[in-house]
Amino acid sequence: MSSELFSLQGRVALVTGAARGIGWKIAQSVASAGAHVVVNDLDEGAVAARATELREAGFSASHAAFDVTDEAGVNAGVAGIVADRGAVDILVNNAGIQRRKMFHEFSYAEWRAVIDTHLNGSFLVTRAVVPGMIERKFGRIIMLGSIAVQQPKQALSAYAAAKGGLTSLVRALAVELGQHGITANALAPGFIATEFTRALQDDEVFTRNMLARVPSGRWGEPGDLAPAVIYLASPAGAFVNGSILTVDGGFLAAG
Ligand code: NDP
Repeated sequence: MSSELFSLQGRVALVTGAARGIGWKIAQSVASAGAHVVVNDLDEGAVAARATELREAGFSASHAAFDVTDEAGVNAGVAGIVADRGAVDILVNNAGIQRRKMFHEFSYAEWRAVIDTHLNGSFLVTRAVVPGMIERKFGRIIMLGSIAVQQPKQALSAYAAAKGGLTSLVRALAVELGQHGITANALAPGFIATEFTRALQDDEVFTRNMLARVPSGRWGEPGDLAPAVIYLASPAGAFVNGSILTVDGGFLAAG
């Protein structure tokens, strides 16, 4: 199999929430596959440092700090990338937050913060890049979904609702945008060891019970997801559209 099949050479990729965790690993992998990577997150200093780290490793990278929930900030950020690099070919909507509450204890503000970051933030960034993708007849949109859509856990209702929305959105985008050479897909990761799941990792009972139900028998690592992004973004994934790719060590299959 030719390595060109998995090459991102000549592409410009924007990865949101990429200062750490899964997003940072995706940014590194996409860069090593040949794309110019734009590292996005909230903190200007953090994303500038990450872009420098990538350039020092010999990759092509820049940064754009903006809040994915801020419409004006998103539009200005994407306009800046297009002015600098000419395009956004690959978008990875990865930025996310977590609020663990029983459903009836959610304040409206907490509920909205979760929906805003995952669902509305992905709407804003995707909307900003799609016109350019249509113009160039090429685009790869990848959302971070979750196994919580199919198997919600207690105290994660806002998260499950937001990720469910994203999962539906990729199908709707596939239907609308496929005719323009654009694909939209989602990853559904299982339990991945990042700051996001720190409290769960520190909970011995949770970890023991969860690992007993993961056929692979371990926590996922951010590096388990990055190759799936390369696949979906590269020529290898050209005919994959509107799909949800589960990367969970077999957790859902095990029921
Ligand atoms: P992390 O918390 O480690 O990283 C998320 C990043 O997103 C942080 O750097 C965070 O910045 C940033 N971010 C948050 N809000 C915004 C915003 N409004 N605009 C821009 N950036 C923002 O999480 P993970 O790496 O674990 O998760 C990444 C994605 O993967 C999320 O969408 C998550 O839902 C999804 N996922 C994760 C799983 C897991 O087990 N870890 C499982 C399934 C899905 P800051 O730190 O400043 O808040």
